[in-house]
Amino acid sequence: MPPHSLTEPSRQTPIYGEYDVVVLGGGPAGMAAAVAAAQAGRSTLLVERYGFLGGMGTAAGVTNFCGLHANVHGEIRQVVHGVATELLARIDALGGLNAPHALFGKTVAQAYDTPAYKIAADQLMQSAGVKLLFHALAAGVVMDAPGRIGALLLETKSGRRAVLGRAFIDASGDGDLAAWAGVPYDMGDGAGNFLYPSTLFRLNDIDPQRAGKAWETIPGLMLQAEAEGRHRFPRKTPIVRPQKSGIEWRVNLTQLADERGNALDGTDADALTQAELQGRRQIASVAGFLREVPGFERSYIVDLPAQVGIRETRRMRGLYQLTEADVLGCASFDDTIGVNGWPLELHLKGDVEFRWPPIPQSRGFNHLPYRMVVPQGVDNLWVAGRCASMSHEAQSAARVTGACFVMGQAAGSAADLALSAGSSAAAVDVGALQARLEAHGAWLGRED
Ligand SMILES: Cc1cc2nc3c(=O)[nH]c(=O)nc-3n(C[C@H](O)[C@H](O)[C@H](O)COP(=O)(O)OP(=O)(O)OC[C@H]3O[C@@H](n4cnc5c(N)ncnc54)[C@H](O)[C@@H]3O)c2cc1C
Repeated sequence: MPPHSLTEPSRQTPIYGEYDVVVLGGGPAGMAAAVAAAQAGRSTLLVERYGFLGGMGTAAGVTNFCGLHANVHGEIRQVVHGVATELLARIDALGGLNAPHALFGKTVAQAYDTPAYKIAADQLMQSAGVKLLFHALAAGVVMDAPGRIGALLLETKSGRRAVLGRAFIDASGDGDLAAWAGVPYDMGDGAGNFLYPSTLFRLNDIDPQRAGKAWETIPGLMLQAEAEGRHRFPRKTPIVRPQKSGIEWRVNLTQLADERGNALDGTDADALTQAELQGRRQIASVAGFLREVPGFERSYIVDLPAQVGIRETRRMRGLYQLTEADVLGCASFDDTIGVNGWPLELHLKGDVEFRWPPIPQSRGFNHLPYRMVVPQGVDNLWVAGRCASMSHEAQSAARVTGACFVMGQAAGSAADLALSAGSSAAAVDVGALQARLEAHGAWLGRED
């Protein structure tokens, strides 16, 4: 039997730099956090393992913003502003932002082109004065004292490096930094079920006239193809929609499971490998089916993303855990940092289930409380984005991009306030935070 572990030689790790605020992860939460901290005048480093920003939105080919809007008593409104608005304006200026499109007759989402998103994100970081470090995989932390992080350890092409920081923001999506720092966390629904991962892809050379509103007919064609025994699909409820140019469509129709049918675990290296292979296998089959759809006959796979799309892994335990009842009941919180207008979107075995607050009777959004980005047990850390403090069900809603922008901007602003006051994350003056967020264009949902 080979041994299970070995002892590495101890080593001296070169210091890459020292920053007021260190942000791990360049997805929507990390970008918004870094911009907010840098705009407040803090030296801010954003560490990202890829060579571009956007997180799942680019690396996993999502190409579509959800949660920027809500159905407020029957009227669709953009409810997420602030850093998100700055980024959207830059994507639009590059010609990469689609007009919002209707979904389920209840809300809207807004598609974008990945290259424009990447360029716009670079521009936004540079204009805000964020220092970027790409191609750097975070690998651990060094604690200064119990409950206080001193350094983030990175593996880079230049070798292993340590980044010293006064405040840290975990926007890794998987809660890597927080987990290393000892913050307690939950995985899945408690019975081992995560929201299922999917690999997205895009098709090109579609005839927009003939394809028409193919998203309305494809579910029926799928049922027919299954009934005739010609195809088996990994999940129902397909998302097949046009990008800004109608010859290119995005496809979200895969579901990745282990041999027992359970969702693959995005924190397990072997499961991730299996997911990548399975995703591409499913795509080859789905793309074959789609060529049977009128207007799609000549379509070809124009893009496979850099990685499998991971919806849920670790969810940190914070001072408050957002719940399903909060989302469906459009909860209000005194410490609101912004809102979530997206419904529960549960990626269950073989299907996707949406659960909405009453529309149009309700205001269609819930407040996101500051306490959900403040982890238990570590004073100089915030956890924003899909790994923030939410139940499995609530995370299926507030993991989408809109709410991640909200949490990130609040975390970056709060880090600045904590550094000014010499306080812990938990002791940040919430009134001052809310005033700061509103002064920078965020909407906290308090008027309704
Ligand atoms: C298949 C799929 C479809 C989706 N569809 C939509 C949709 O239509 N609309 C929508 O709004 N949302 C959608 N989402 C959800 C949304 O894209 C994500 O939940 C959102 O991007 C989460 O943002 P985040 O900033 O919390 O994390 P992420 O977007 O996951 O970003 C985390 C970043 O951290 C980096 N990182 C992680 N660990 C490390 C490390 N150790 N070292 C260095 N860097 C690291 C990653 O490379 C990544 O860039 C979808 C998600 C999936 C998986």
